[in-house]
Amino acid sequence: MGPMVKPALRRAWRGRRTVQFGVARTHALRLAPVDRVAAAFLDLLDGSRSLPVLRAEARALGLPAERADELVRRLAAAGVVADPAADGAALAGLGGAPGALERLRPDLASLSLVHAAPGAGAARLAARRGMRVRVLGAGRVGAAVAAALAAAGVGRVEVHDGGSVRGTDVAPGGLPASAVARRRADAAARLVREAAPLPAPRAAPGADAVPLSLAVVAPRDGLAAYRPEPAETGPWLAAGVPHLFAGVIEATGFVGPLVLPGGTACAGCARRFEAEADPDAPAMLAQWRSGRCARPVAACDGPLAAVVAGLAAAHALSFLDGELPTSTGARWEVALPLLDWRAERIVPHPGCGCGAAGRTEGVGAATAGAGRATMAG
Ligand SMILES: [Zn+2]
Repeated sequence: MGPMVKPALRRAWRGRRTVQFGVARTHALRLAPVDRVAAAFLDLLDGSRSLPVLRAEARALGLPAERADELVRRLAAAGVVADPAADGAALAGLGGAPGALERLRPDLASLSLVHAAPGAGAARLAARRGMRVRVLGAGRVGAAVAAALAAAGVGRVEVHDGGSVRGTDVAPGGLPASAVARRRADAAARLVREAAPLPAPRAAPGADAVPLSLAVVAPRDGLAAYRPEPAETGPWLAAGVPHLFAGVIEATGFVGPLVLPGGTACAGCARRFEAEADPDAPAMLAQWRSGRCARPVAACDGPLAAVVAGLAAAHALSFLDGELPTSTGARWEVALPLLDWRAERIVPHPGCGCGAAGRTEGVGAATAGAGRATMAG
């Protein structure tokens, strides 16, 4: 096996001397100048030829070996070349049946575009298998987040919730109608097992539990994630576990903030800014949270729940793969019926004990007056 032009990128001539790899703007790039000989050489980069074989075939085309090497180097530096051998080794390391690996191929193709170095995408996919994520809530959003993470190769996905599944919890991508009346925890665990392409990794006997990589706070009552109680998220802060809020409240979906304990604004930071901006907010929140005010049925449209679950899972995966997605210190919101996305930045509060304000003092001081500012959506 040898170098291969990434099959995930469509290729087209832009004029006579430029080859463009990719359609969509973010991951597309151009290679120029490319003459007919170099173009013929590109066709040989399908992964079936080793470098020595490529050099020999390049010479036959009239392309000196040094130029062939240089072309491969340029393509690799541009992130257009995959390494099938490295990908194959990473996938073999996952230890699944071929059918299971086939289910992960679209995810691997996506990772190979985002992480451009040869083999880097496969390494990310392999790393997901060692991660452990806890989802709090097995409602329309939470269960679907858990299923999406498991399907994307996250090795350990656990869902915490109490009680039994009701018809209102059922949603496409989440709990099926057949789960109604079963314990939520059991039904969610089964959903995760069925979504995962590979069996859950076994812990070595006597080994410590794998630490949590991330918690996703997606309770059935969206208010608990939209206006989270600092007392409830305190343990995540204390343990240093990154946590992402997501949910639907009153036909409005939201994803974020992703809280990096001590690094970005926490639930307590948001609560303090809110109380400063609106002195009535604490008393209103107490009313909203009281049993008298609780809604028997949440206004949680099925497609909106699916969108929120998918976006939350995508933000979670981006973080698990080593990036800081735009939900870091910000909340994305989308409301029916027009569905325009807006982001609200949530900055660290200097009076909050989480310590994020000290870490990001410049950012906090610059925007503390506003507390929350709307970013372009
Ligand atoms: Zn804080």
